[in-house]
Amino acid sequence: MGKIGETTLQIDLTALEHNYTYLRSKIAPKTKFLAVVKAFAYGSDMVSIAQKMEQLGVDYLAVAYVKEGVLLRDAGIKTPILVLHPLPSNFDEIIDRCLEPSLYSRKILSEFLQVAKSKNQKDYPVHIKFNTGLNRLGFNETDVDFVSEKLKGNKAVKVASVFSHLAASEDLDEKSFSLNQINAFKRISDGLTQKLGYAPMRHMLNTSGILNYPEAQFEMVRSGIGLYGYGNDANIDAQLRPVASLKTIISQIHHIGENETVGYNRAYTSESARTTATLPLGHADGIGRQYGNGKASVLIHGKKAPIIGNVCMDMIMVDVTGIDCQEGDEALVFGSGNSAEDFAAGAKTISYEILTAISQRVKREVIAG
Ligand SMILES: *Cc1c(COP(=O)(O)O)cnc(C)c1O
Repeated sequence: MGKIGETTLQIDLTALEHNYTYLRSKIAPKTKFLAVVKAFAYGSDMVSIAQKMEQLGVDYLAVAYVKEGVLLRDAGIKTPILVLHPLPSNFDEIIDRCLEPSLYSRKILSEFLQVAKSKNQKDYPVHIKFNTGLNRLGFNETDVDFVSEKLKGNKAVKVASVFSHLAASEDLDEKSFSLNQINAFKRISDGLTQKLGYAPMRHMLNTSGILNYPEAQFEMVRSGIGLYGYGNDANIDAQLRPVASLKTIISQIHHIGENETVGYNRAYTSESARTTATLPLGHADGIGRQYGNGKASVLIHGKKAPIIGNVCMDMIMVDVTGIDCQEGDEALVFGSGNSAEDFAAGAKTISYEILTAISQRVKREVIAG
């Protein structure tokens, strides 16, 4: 990867392909694969990730909100796109842009049916979401009759899939809860299939689900974090490659004496003479204040440089004492060599949060490989 001139999120499409191949190797060849590209493809670059996944022949893409799907259609993406969390104000646009809604409540289902009918649709693909224990979005098992009554004989829409979501797929201490969810989903999807008189696709596994419950892959799986190189497990992480690497360059180096302070509110006090480096990224770029005061470290020439003091809006200061470095040298905030999972763990959060936090101010550089 070439030299950077400013804070840059490098997006490695070769790593994406590697991760896709790895995840595919964990499921049956006939199982379909949905790539989750919501939130700018987990903070990276939604269009280039979706284009690469389309090239690799992925069966479905998923976004959270309608406007994310519209961005993909504007970029020429042709792959079916599931919208996980549509709102009624977007239903016209969903149909106009060939996006496929997740329908998760009585109100949403009824309103979508009306819009589809008023727009003279026939067999418009929809996806029915059931809640099996996450208690977030979805019909409950007791709604199966309502859903099938509403849909049976309705010519405007056709159920492309029925799906659910595990609450703790990465946590094997919750295995019996997950198995209960899987069983409930089987009952629900069997019931719905029987009542509809045709068999929609079924899917319930996210990345950790694919790895921990392969027996529940049904007709399709949905992966996000795994494609981006993280698997909620150190052994899996070792098999995957981070797609996004956040890099920056040292703006200035300071040599400070004992008992000096660094940054706003004088949050850091030196116990001895230190060398510090100021880096051009801060909480406006997505490095939140929770990473300050030693909670996270960047890598400079392969060595850990902890963030000292409070994170500023546009800058952080790191301790580079004993690291042979100069102004203009590169610092790796996270990515290949400084895992986003480790960076996040220092501040008691998860890779998902730090990845999706990187703001649109940060330059994206896509590396095709
Ligand atoms: C975000 C999301 C996923 C992807 O989960 P990962 O853990 O990133 O693989 C799958 N399904 C649903 C419903 C989601 O909201």
